[in-house]
Amino acid sequence: MDVENRIRELSALLLRHQYLYYVKAQPEISDAEYDRLFDELVALEEGYPQFADENSPTRRVGSDLDNTFPERRHAVPVLSLDKEYNTGELANWLQKTVKNADRPLGFVVEEKMDGASIVLYYRDGALAAAVTRGDGSRGNDVTGNIRTVPQVPLVIADKGELAVRGEVYIAKSDFETYNKTFDDKYANPRNLAAGSLRNLKSSLVAQVPLKIFCYEGYFRGQNAENGGRALNDHIHILIKLRELGFRVSENLGFFSDNEELAAQVRSLAPGFVVGGVADLVKYVEERIALRDSLDYEIDGLVIKVNEIDVREMLGSTAHHPRWAVAFKFDAPLAQTVLEDVQVQVGRNGRVTPVAILQPVRIAGSTVTRATLHNQEYIDMLELGPGDLVSISKRGDIIPAVEDVVEKALENPSVYRLPEACQFCGTRFVKDGAHHFCKNKQCPERIRRAITYFTAKGQMDIDTLGEKTVAFLFDEGFVRCIPDIYRFDYGRLLGEEGFKEKKVENFKQSVLESKSRPFKTVLTALGFEGIAANAVSMLIKNGYDSVDKIIEAASRRDTEVFSSIDGFGGIMAELMIQHFTDPDNLRLIQELKELGLNFNEGQVVGTDLVLQSMAGATWVITGSFEHFNPRSKAAEEIERRGGKVASAVSAKTSYVLAGEKAGSKLAKARELGIPVVDEAQFRKMLEE
Ligand SMILES: [Zn+2]
Repeated sequence: MDVENRIRELSALLLRHQYLYYVKAQPEISDAEYDRLFDELVALEEGYPQFADENSPTRRVGSDLDNTFPERRHAVPVLSLDKEYNTGELANWLQKTVKNADRPLGFVVEEKMDGASIVLYYRDGALAAAVTRGDGSRGNDVTGNIRTVPQVPLVIADKGELAVRGEVYIAKSDFETYNKTFDDKYANPRNLAAGSLRNLKSSLVAQVPLKIFCYEGYFRGQNAENGGRALNDHIHILIKLRELGFRVSENLGFFSDNEELAAQVRSLAPGFVVGGVADLVKYVEERIALRDSLDYEIDGLVIKVNEIDVREMLGSTAHHPRWAVAFKFDAPLAQTVLEDVQVQVGRNGRVTPVAILQPVRIAGSTVTRATLHNQEYIDMLELGPGDLVSISKRGDIIPAVEDVVEKALENPSVYRLPEACQFCGTRFVKDGAHHFCKNKQCPERIRRAITYFTAKGQMDIDTLGEKTVAFLFDEGFVRCIPDIYRFDYGRLLGEEGFKEKKVENFKQSVLESKSRPFKTVLTALGFEGIAANAVSMLIKNGYDSVDKIIEAASRRDTEVFSSIDGFGGIMAELMIQHFTDPDNLRLIQELKELGLNFNEGQVVGTDLVLQSMAGATWVITGSFEHFNPRSKAAEEIERRGGKVASAVSAKTSYVLAGEKAGSKLAKARELGIPVVDEAQFRKMLEE
């Protein structure tokens, strides 16, 4: 076969497997087989660039060349939707629409994705352009970036002209993982998705876990026969889009009193909910209740007229089509006054400006603070103290200042971050979108790191909440993480508010935390990017002790880590940076000596094992039936907070003696130290 044909064949094959993997989630070949085909195509395209197509599956990895985003006029209307906020209004809209149409109608209910809107244009069976929504009539051409989204078909089995509207988004779980890598740099999935589409380098976009749902198709000559079915209604257009390889959400309701049509939809798309028009509002209520169970953000539902000719007849106002409405979950924004801006410095030095607001009620709760993300965000809003602002609460995420409604009457200004850290005086440095205090000894950074370490979800030392940590820190009792385990909490007796019981609780909870597993300890250290997910992946890939990680990092070879699932080049660099840093290595060493778990194997069960042997020193001698090798007995003692020594002395608490115990047993008897045999020991473990 000649090269050109082989390239075509490979392209078609790989595109099909990308579709099976990313859209259908039903791969038919192994990753290795896929890689082999992919590599063959890359090699052929390099050798014969004249045959390389711009919609080749190899373009998914993007390019390092700077993108430009020329403006393009939309070939289809990209209107925004009118909004309703309660089901009563929605029922009115349905009634009014049916009345205006003056005939029975079908309605389609779709999820309103909270992502970035895009229009995909296809010609001659291939993706020709991808254009952002822009102002509705013109948007930016971001085709190179869209090609990297694996769920976007690059080639389709329809040679006509087709425009498809879709929403590019990021799954909540993907966002969490991705954003942790960047130390929560992105405010929410929507900002990350929208920002990624405008990233200058498509090779970077390829690393963002972007997904797409498509929800509107404009086939040229829409009423023409197509595959035996006339595409004159929306539901059939969606089904057709799906057949062509576009990703259409399964969470879709179709409501029509035309029973023949309803039956047809049931058989063509068994995943959709189908009912009569009277069932629509109930379906909307059900979807509202299910909102939080989705792995992506939606901010409402869209209800559309199904029949295309009725849509054309109903037309649109200057702003909105009359044949569709957005049902929004969240009531409109609240307005309040920005009183002040507070500057927070995080444990990794990142500076976050926080809006201090005149208290305002939103969605049943009073909001007094909202994040302002960074200086760029403040500049974008042109925001200053005294301004009247609008506030939103997106889902369960912290409230955000969305807009300035009116500048302050007196001294209107745009807030600027201070030049230097208010806690240590170090000048802030700008790195990406954020400012940082780069001083590792910054007291605020250290205090934050300690608070993070003890927090719920980390080491979960419940007696050491933020206020207590601040007190211990300010008094000089706990000035670093290891101090938590060194400080003699008995010294607090006599301080105001510290009674015996409270001090005892401190001791107990701090001691208990020593039994947390390696995974928890490593996550609690709060190194940038090293969140629970990352640690789980490390352990899964054999890095089940900190020693192994440090050893691997010392080779300073990013490939060692970048090959781990979910780790990219950036994560690999962070790993090397963290685990070769002398301060971090010292911290780990100190905590290790204090008895924290830095080895996954150390903790066999859960971290619920009680510290029943805390403070006791054991010596083990002889051989055992159950504890073979002997280190198994030592592990059990250490798990319970006890220590194991090699020689018997006056400090020994117990001697564990097995068969053929020798001089150590004699020494124990001589010193009057309690001797425990295997059976007694096993009983002690059970207690
Ligand atoms: Zn500082």
